[in-house]
Amino acid sequence: MPLIESWVTSANSAETPFPLNNLPYGVFSVGDGPKKLGVAIGDDILDVELVCDAMPVNSDVLRDPRGWNGLMELGSTAWSTFRTALTHLLSANAPARPDALVPQTHATLHMPFTVSEYTDFYSGRHHATNVGTMFRGAENALSPNWLHIPIGYNGRASSVVVSGTDIRRPWGQLKGPNDEAPRWAPSQRFDIELEVGAIVGNASNGPISVDKADVNIFGYVLLNDWSARDIQAWEYQPLGPFQSKATATTIGAWIVTAEALAPFRCDTPTRQKPLLPHLRDTGPMLYNIALSVTLNGEQIAQTNYREMYYSAAQQLAHHTSSGCPMRVGDLLGSGTISGPERENRGSLLELSWGGKDPLMLADGTPRSFIHDGDTLGLHGAAEGDGYRVGFGACFGTVRPALEDPFRG
Ligand code: MN
Repeated sequence: MPLIESWVTSANSAETPFPLNNLPYGVFSVGDGPKKLGVAIGDDILDVELVCDAMPVNSDVLRDPRGWNGLMELGSTAWSTFRTALTHLLSANAPARPDALVPQTHATLHMPFTVSEYTDFYSGRHHATNVGTMFRGAENALSPNWLHIPIGYNGRASSVVVSGTDIRRPWGQLKGPNDEAPRWAPSQRFDIELEVGAIVGNASNGPISVDKADVNIFGYVLLNDWSARDIQAWEYQPLGPFQSKATATTIGAWIVTAEALAPFRCDTPTRQKPLLPHLRDTGPMLYNIALSVTLNGEQIAQTNYREMYYSAAQQLAHHTSSGCPMRVGDLLGSGTISGPERENRGSLLELSWGGKDPLMLADGTPRSFIHDGDTLGLHGAAEGDGYRVGFGACFGTVRPALEDPFRG
């Protein structure tokens, strides 16, 4: 499919992340004005409330204070009908409605939806192998279950923030050398994880198939799972990460729908061991999305979402397999997405090999983990023929730890 032309001329460039082929959903405000639902198109945002007469949904949905949850609740058929109406409204042969546009440079972006619950997976094979090698040695890098189930943990919806939110360096119990007594201090090994988050748009109550899970995913966002490695190394056994991952998780401000990504579907990598039947691939459910990480504007890694070993549909099917109910607005982090080479690593832990082999920045300084004042950015786009479907940047700046919060 080629670029679809719009009357919004900035949407017709091969470089814009937001052509008519994309139509990502966000929430914005201008000045002291209210939060409003918007759709990115070229350099602008379409204020959907101002075109509600042309939209095939109740106008309450387009004024939902929770964000895009209301549209999700209408179900998959309505998602598609709504997108078709938007495409017609913004296409080159429709009457222009410049009165319904706001320049992105004038807008502040907010959480695009209300997160019901948040789960984070560990489904990137290169990442799991790298981290397992560092934490447990090469022989025990992948636990015996890893090639059979998408490993995950239940995170905190309360910790999810939108791109642009400052992140405060956390305090925690830090592992001492050689399992000596831990100490209480600000994390010295604060890190990012480059991930893609899948948003559940249809609720379910009981086990669902991989095919059904695929249909239930409304869209995707970039996701940075901020991680305190020194807290994590001490606390993670035997129940997994806890405070090391609870400070914040940043998501991108734009939800790119599964429909917009459909032309970029691809298969998961070759299975090393056959999956049990209920988790087997039934079609291409991963996506070819180029991803990169910047540190203070300098690119330090680039990889691709297709490196995932499990698709979001497989993760969601597995999540429901015990009968776990899923809600509209549940967020599933993919797990850190690394690739086979050093420059493909999606965390500083891997890029600096635990601090043993620091990354060399362009100015010649070695770097292992995040410094106060650093701005970390995640970027992603699927590359089409003469157009791209972009996510917009997902960034956050790390601020110094506060004074000891327990010193009275
Ligand atoms: Mn993670």
